[in-house]
Amino acid sequence: MSNVQILLVDDHELFRRTTRSFVESHPNWTVCSEAGDGIEAVEKAKKLRPNVILMDINMPRMDGAEATRIIRREVPECNVIVVTQNHSSIARQQAAAVGAQGFVTKSDLGKDLRQVILSVIGVRDAKAVSLGEGHDAIPEWLRGGGALGDLTYKFDWAKTPLGNIAEWPPSLKTIVRVLLTSRFAMWMSWGPELTFLYNDAYARMTLGNKHPWALGKRSQDVWQEIWADIGPRISQVLKDGKATWDEALMLFLERSGYREETYHTFSYSPLFDDKGKTAGHLCVVTEETDRVIGERRLDSLRSLSAELNKATTEDDVTLSVHRCLEENQKDLPFTLTYLLTEDGQQARLACRSGIQEGHPAAPPVIELGEANGVWPLRDLLGGKDSLLMEDLSGRVGTVPSGFWDKEPSRALLLPISGGTQGATAGIFVAGLNPFRPLDVSYAGFISLIAGQISAAITNARAYELEKKRAEALAELDRAKTTFFSNVSHEFRTPLTLMLGPLQDLLSRSQTHLTPTAKQQLELVNRNGARLLRLVNTLLDFSRIEAGRYQAVYQATDLAGFTSELASVFRSATERAGLKLIVDCPRLEEPVYVDRDMWEKVVLNLISNAFKFTFEGEIAVSLERGGNFAELRVRDTGEGIPPEAIPHLFERFYRVPNTRSRTHEGTGIGLALVQELVKLHGGFMRVESTLGKGSTFIVSIPFGQDHLASSQLGGARSLASTAVGAKPFVEEALRWLPDDENTKHEPIAEAELLAVPCPPTAEAGSRPRILVADDNADMRLYLAGLLGEQYQVDCAADGQIAIDIARKHPPNLILSDVMMPNLDGFHSISKRQRNWIMRSRIPFKPTPPAAALDRSFSNSSRGIPLP
Ligand code: ADP
Repeated sequence: MSNVQILLVDDHELFRRTTRSFVESHPNWTVCSEAGDGIEAVEKAKKLRPNVILMDINMPRMDGAEATRIIRREVPECNVIVVTQNHSSIARQQAAAVGAQGFVTKSDLGKDLRQVILSVIGVRDAKAVSLGEGHDAIPEWLRGGGALGDLTYKFDWAKTPLGNIAEWPPSLKTIVRVLLTSRFAMWMSWGPELTFLYNDAYARMTLGNKHPWALGKRSQDVWQEIWADIGPRISQVLKDGKATWDEALMLFLERSGYREETYHTFSYSPLFDDKGKTAGHLCVVTEETDRVIGERRLDSLRSLSAELNKATTEDDVTLSVHRCLEENQKDLPFTLTYLLTEDGQQARLACRSGIQEGHPAAPPVIELGEANGVWPLRDLLGGKDSLLMEDLSGRVGTVPSGFWDKEPSRALLLPISGGTQGATAGIFVAGLNPFRPLDVSYAGFISLIAGQISAAITNARAYELEKKRAEALAELDRAKTTFFSNVSHEFRTPLTLMLGPLQDLLSRSQTHLTPTAKQQLELVNRNGARLLRLVNTLLDFSRIEAGRYQAVYQATDLAGFTSELASVFRSATERAGLKLIVDCPRLEEPVYVDRDMWEKVVLNLISNAFKFTFEGEIAVSLERGGNFAELRVRDTGEGIPPEAIPHLFERFYRVPNTRSRTHEGTGIGLALVQELVKLHGGFMRVESTLGKGSTFIVSIPFGQDHLASSQLGGARSLASTAVGAKPFVEEALRWLPDDENTKHEPIAEAELLAVPCPPTAEAGSRPRILVADDNADMRLYLAGLLGEQYQVDCAADGQIAIDIARKHPPNLILSDVMMPNLDGFHSISKRQRNWIMRSRIPFKPTPPAAALDRSFSNSSRGIPLP
């Protein structure tokens, strides 16, 4: 034989390496591959079909004896040489028992291996030659009959009831020729003893180690183990002359050294002699073992996967595993799923199938520290990927037999992953079907089951963790809501108590107050009101979150109400040079709204439009859109970049770098508006083009079916947080540049120029300070504070500040950092900074008032912003 392909099978890498170098020292021998266990060996033998396999006997997963049997049956052209540590007499027996062609002991490997390989391939070659030589002698009618044709020819038929082959009747010769030349698996019986004949396909597919022994034997002896099943069928055929048909019939064959669960689809048909009398039968057969068992296993995997998909907790997982595996006690006579405890010291029985609770082989807890536990779980935790336990009755006593009448003698143990960072979470124990070999597909099936359990445990644990995290977050959120609620209450009460008397004082004592005192009280009042509005918004949120928002829905002429609210902004828009278009024609039916809430919705949206629009118009409209009343607040302002739109209604979100009338804002206005709209069963959306403007659209359903009846009409028990339109408009007015703001309001004149000059100092000799801040009240306050000693100029944004500074170079600039147009930092950047530097003007961001005095003397010190 020219090039001999050799497969090395041994679980020790070192042994494979030494054998490889020995084998490859021969010029015509090549190691085609290596395998580390029996399962891999079978796989590679089928795929590569090597000439010789050097097979170690003791290996994990599947031992060499089992692998050899399978290979002999499924790849008969491969020669197997058993390699063992045993004494040669035992090695000889082992090799004979599994049908191997040769054996060699590991201790004599160097001495014997070469000769054994030579003799094994030599025998094969010799056989081929002898067959070749005999070929001419084979009579015409036996030619093309393959290996069985040769064997049939050489067989001594004279010792059987069929007599000398040369004298067989034509009817027998004809049928034997049909049999031998067919590639379909067939066997037949003939004569008084139903003498057994078969073809190559049958030898390969079904007969196993009964080949070639079975040739010429009595059929009853060949199939003794299934004669109870097939004997009556054959008798029937012989008697009636009618064919039988069986589909996927389960038969226990003894063809591999053990009783094997197999499935066959076959038909027996009568055979007739020269006189037309029934003389035997022909069996045409397809073995369906792989299909039937494969489908059964697939069913189990499918139903397990379907069940596990629904499982979210560890208990769900173990229940599903129990339910599904209980259904397939043919492949899994019993199973145990142990999960490790958190400290890793014990394994707890999480579920079982096919085995009773309290069975000695199913202890509820296994101490992993104990060396002699029922199951050697500890051995698997060291990183092994599987463990085959033989002699179960000797090790764990009687175990349940599941579907079968014989209990499993072996169990396969596999680790279950799913612990933290892929660590082992447990062990899966599967009792093995005593009638099937642990071949690649069986081992693969069990490891897929263990894999599914692992994945489900991992998911369940991740889900559990996520749930705990979500609960913790929810708890935190609840705490935050309670905190906001408490804090808002605590702020509201004193604020209300301060603002009430203050407003009283302002309205009653006009005559007694000096203009400066009045001015200062008004400043306190305005800012107090602003704070109250913020606190109210926070309170609204906490009430909504706690589900305590008290809504009172009333049938409302929404068009009239909305245009009233919008019109409040008319003076502010006019002062800003904007057109306010209010288009709210009367709707034909009232809309149920909580009026306080609706006020907040409309005012917030118009106030935003005003904040972000510098020229053009603000249009407020209300009209019917299907079953909804649709409010649109459109502006021709700055617009919103598309990537910001999905975040617009998130709490505290503000679009960065948008030009606006003020930098003041908290980013909760729109979030609140959306919550209020949702409380009405409505929704809102926004359409916007950057640089062109935005439209906010609020849709509220008509009718009252979507509202709880308890909330229709009636009175509130909680204090209202509505503040009316005035504070919105007043605040908006304070965002206008000073000249626009002061044009129509004489008092505001004082805000810009109200710098009380001490009579003693001459205005011209006082140092000049430029105050830049977008908050009008802050400008007014600083001007008042500094005006006695300095000449103070005020600017509402960075650009105005630069213009004023150019005209009247100040000795000091006090600037807010965040302002519309040019912010404080930009105002002094590059060109401006050079200019300011040349003028030797110190620059300071606006400090809190208290720090102001201290900071004047020390121009190099930074002062924190308010
Ligand atoms: P605030 O106005 O207090 O910042 P809002 O929740 O009312 O908070 O608005 C969130 C953000 O949405 C604003 O900071 C702004 O960037 C953007 N925005 C809202 N309305 C408009 C509008 N009409 N035009 C442009 N941008 C807007």
